[in-house]
Order: sequence, then C-alpha cells, then structure tokens
Amino acid sequence: AVALLDAPPRRRPALSYELFPARSGASFERLQQTVAQLEQTAPDYVSVTSRTGYQNFARVLELTDHVLGETRLRPLVHLTSVGARRQHLVAGIEALLDRGVRGILALRGDVPEDHVPEEDEFPFARYLVELIREVERDRSALLAGGRIAVGVAAYPVRHPESPTRQHDIEVLVSKARSGADFAITQVFFDPAAYCDLVARARRAGVDIPLVPGFVPATDPARLQRLAELSGVHAPRELLHALETARDETDRRRIGTRFTVDLIRGVLDAGAPGLHLYTFNRHAEALDVLEALDLGQWTTTDTRHTGDPR
Ligand code: FAD
Repeated sequence: AVALLDAPPRRRPALSYELFPARSGASFERLQQTVAQLEQTAPDYVSVTSRTGYQNFARVLELTDHVLGETRLRPLVHLTSVGARRQHLVAGIEALLDRGVRGILALRGDVPEDHVPEEDEFPFARYLVELIREVERDRSALLAGGRIAVGVAAYPVRHPESPTRQHDIEVLVSKARSGADFAITQVFFDPAAYCDLVARARRAGVDIPLVPGFVPATDPARLQRLAELSGVHAPRELLHALETARDETDRRRIGTRFTVDLIRGVLDAGAPGLHLYTFNRHAEALDVLEALDLGQWTTTDTRHTGDPR
C-alpha cells in the first residue's frame, strides 16, 4: 500500500459523455440502458443537456436524479439563460445543489428568432457564470467549503453570431474571468481548429482546460442537422463516403474511423481529454472508445497542462 501511495498518479485523458433528457417514459427506460452501458467505461462525468426557458427541467432533474441515485457517475448539468428570469435561474441552481449536483455547464442557449427577452434576462453566458458563483457563496454552508465546477462553451469554429474568431476568444476570456473552471468545445472536424483555439486562448491569458467535444460522425443526417444548428460543417468527402456506404455496418466503420483519427489528432497534440456528444446512442460512442484505446495516452506527468504542443 505504501508503494502504491509513493507511485506518481497515472492519469488517463478525461472522458465524458453528453446525454439529453428523455422525452417520454419509454425513452427514459432506453436512456437508463444507455447510461448503464456508458458507465462501464468509467467516464469522469456525464453531462445532461437542457432546453432553453426551463422547457424540460423536470426531465433534466429526472435524468440527473437517476445518475446521482442509481449510478456511480457524476452529472454535469447544463443550464441556459435564454428565456429565464434571474430568480428562476437561482431556483434552478439551488435545486441542483440540493440534490448533490456539483458541476454546472453555464450556457446562454440559442435565441429563437421571435424571442422577446424576459425583463431581467441575461444576454450572455458570462452573467450566468457570475450568478452560479454568487449562489455558491450564499450556499457555502451547504457546500461545506467545497466549490461548484463551472464549465462554459468554447468555439473552435466561429460561433454563428460572432463577427470574428478573435471575438470568440474575447468572450471566452470574459467567461474564464467570471469564474469558469473549464470549457467544452463545440464540434469541429479539423484538429488544427482546436489547436488554434487553444493557442489563441493561451495568448489571451485563458488558462482553464479546454476539453474538445466530438460527435461520433456515423450518421450523415445528424451531421447535416448539426451543421444547421451550429454552423459547423462536416467535410464533404466524409458526408459523401457515409452517404454512399454499402450498408449500416460500413457506415459505422467509416464514421468511427474518421472520429477516432480526429480525436487522436488532438490527444497527440496534448488535449486534456474528450467529451462525446452521444445523442443518447451508446453503441456509436462505445465503438469510438474501443477503437481509440485511451490507455495509450495515460501519463504520469502531473504537471501536464493539457496544452497542444
Ligand atoms: P455566450 O458565451 O453568451 O455567447 C453567445 C454569443 O454572444 C456569441 O456569439 C458571443 O460571441 C456573443 N457574446 C458573448 N458575450 C458578448 C459581449 N460581451 N458582447 C458582444 N457579444 C457577446 N444549447 C442549449 O440550448 N442547451 C444545451 O444544453 C446546450 N449545451 C451545449 C454544450 C456545449 C458544450 C456547447 C458548445 C453548446 C451547447 N449549447 C446548448 C448551444 C449553445 O447554447 C449555443 O451555442 C449558444 O448560441 C451560445 O451559448 P454560449 O453559452 O456560448 O453563449
């Protein structure tokens, strides 16, 4: 035991999965199976998405309670500020803390076209980060001195509303200064885009980990929808290969290989981990994990900063 304690800790890259809450009782049953399958890979946490304006908060809590009560996993719960009043955000944060949630991803959310903002609605995610820190201070007794891990979004490919990529960096600086502990990136399809984001962020003084996010790129229809929502387009050659695949097995093989190569590119460059957008489908995520063999990036270097070299 003493030798074990003397050994420097070995650290695998961080691993997390994104799940969205169920839409019905039947889909919640399927979702529980997915959570059980993903749990076998011992992720550091699973993230639980939420729709804007508290539209599905009861379902968010349902999945969160399942993760907290029935698994050994830690949830990272997404909160969005669009369509929410400040007092509702405070109530939401408190409801999460009371359940034992200690990780929140602070987001603005996409603004619907005909949106009429609430009276005291936050225009940007940074204010939600500040609010979470405020509630944390007020609830310090409950937290027994512990902290809430607050994450934010980062964009290797320019955010659709942002005038320039440098503006995205300025926004990331403001979110880090407001108290974010880490960021998870939007999808991207070129390792250079991620490495460039990290280099620019570091030059601007952002020193929090920037965890790259990936979608298992096996379904061309899903990639098209993702492009419409996020403005991030998958390479044309990949879409063509997926669309002309012989069958489902061939499509999964092509998409998994592309995704694994992309993840290898950023892990080789020093990324601190990976976050998989699962779309509640464990099979594709597990294909990626198996082919990736994460253990090979295990490091004993505790000074590892997670910076692409
Ligand atoms: P912000 O950081 O506030 O940025 C929003 C826009 O405002 C950007 O264009 C930014 O450049 C601009 N901006 C910010 N600050 C300023 C300023 N001071 N002056 C001028 N312009 C500024 N959406 C959901 O609805 N639910 C989810 O669960 C969800 N999960 C996500 C998880 C991840 C990891 C990511 C990357 C995105 C997620 N999204 C989710 C989508 C996200 O809500 C959208 O991308 C949204 O459009 C921006 O959110 P944000 O938190 O990045 O906003």
